[in-house]
Amino acid sequence: MTNSDVLPDVLVVGGGAVGASVALALVKQGVTVTVIERDSVASHASGFAYGGLFPTMGAGIPGPILRYAKQGIALHRQLAPELKEITGIDVELRSVISLDLADDEAGFRNLEKTLAWQLDEELDAELLDSEGIRRLEPALTGALAGGLVQRSHFEVDSYRYTLALVTAFEQGGGSSRSGDVVGLVRDGDRVAGVQLASGDEIASDAVVVATGPWAGEGRGGLPSFPVEPKKGEILRLRFPGNDFAHRVSLGGHYIARKPDGLVWVGSTEEDAGFDDRPSASARESIIAGVLALAPALDSAEVVEHTACLRPVSSDEMPILGPVPGHEGLFAANGAGKKGILLNPVIGQMVAAAITGNAAENPIPAEFEAARFEYFSSPD
Ligand SMILES: Cc1cc2nc3c(=O)[nH]c(=O)nc-3n(C[C@H](O)[C@H](O)[C@H](O)COP(=O)(O)OP(=O)(O)OC[C@H]3O[C@@H](n4cnc5c(N)ncnc54)[C@H](O)[C@@H]3O)c2cc1C
Repeated sequence: MTNSDVLPDVLVVGGGAVGASVALALVKQGVTVTVIERDSVASHASGFAYGGLFPTMGAGIPGPILRYAKQGIALHRQLAPELKEITGIDVELRSVISLDLADDEAGFRNLEKTLAWQLDEELDAELLDSEGIRRLEPALTGALAGGLVQRSHFEVDSYRYTLALVTAFEQGGGSSRSGDVVGLVRDGDRVAGVQLASGDEIASDAVVVATGPWAGEGRGGLPSFPVEPKKGEILRLRFPGNDFAHRVSLGGHYIARKPDGLVWVGSTEEDAGFDDRPSASARESIIAGVLALAPALDSAEVVEHTACLRPVSSDEMPILGPVPGHEGLFAANGAGKKGILLNPVIGQMVAAAITGNAAENPIPAEFEAARFEYFSSPD
């Protein structure tokens, strides 16, 4: 789509954090937008994610994601008060100190390497020995060689955050509609709207696919994006006291107290298709992992167990912008393990691509949807 005085009517498919961010960014530019969601807003990963805004870990860090992770934190810091003002919803943005732990000498050497690149990137971090770490978190009585103290981390409540985005979008003039999108409407080579499972068709100038892990399904002429679901589970524990005010992590396990006093422990990574039911095996593996670090948690009570699906692309980078061969179709998916952190950045980039202002918020080559080939399933 080229820059023009006439702004397009846009349909955003998917009411997770990514779809909501794109929708809000578009509405702010005066575009007429409808979000179509088949379940309810924030009912999948965007409502159950830990909500960490961590610029120091994950795919592409250090590397191409780091710059956008920093930008994501800066945008969250602007957005949180704005969302509170517009919607009354406090997204509970707060700064957290994370302790990445090592339980042996080899692990500690790795933390030294991590410290070196974080300092090069001007991220606030320091190494402590096991005594220093236990002074901060005395409940860490398991094996410990030391830890990296990271002060560049923030977090939000991902459910409140996604709800606030959608509420702000609606208050800005956008509309939401319930519906299961099963295909595209076409006008020649152009995408001209969507078909719903109810049989209804909704016309639009542009369609954004923000369907999270379901972006790979490719139903009804929609292209199949190279995105797979990666299941993750988290337990919320009642554990009275002040322990775990710092978020502690070792290997794949973490322990962190949230503002409501519950201690979150996680998580798992599993290829289980679209099965998003909590499992006994994940619960056992999380409990075993965190008890090795903090045996005192044995007395904690599990009050909630959640499972949801991360949308992970084949190269672990987001898939954004115009979809080749489908004029009028835009991708906003593949945010992987960083969709809560990155969605404000994704929202700005995809909205700019749709309104013809890509020069202001360019999509970097490593995120462009055009790096893949797309094959549609038969209509
Ligand atoms: C255990 C766990 C912990 C996480 N922790 C963090 C973290 O600490 N920090 C971080 O940044 N990220 C984290 N993530 C990742 C983050 O949750 C995701 O990257 C993000 O929520 C993806 O948002 P999304 O909007 O793309 O997808 P989703 O939240 O899955 O939303 C997609 C929406 O599209 C709808 N939909 C799908 N198909 C259709 C259709 N055909 N028609 C209509 N609607 C449709 C779905 O119902 C869904 O509501 C975590 C994920 C998990 C699983």
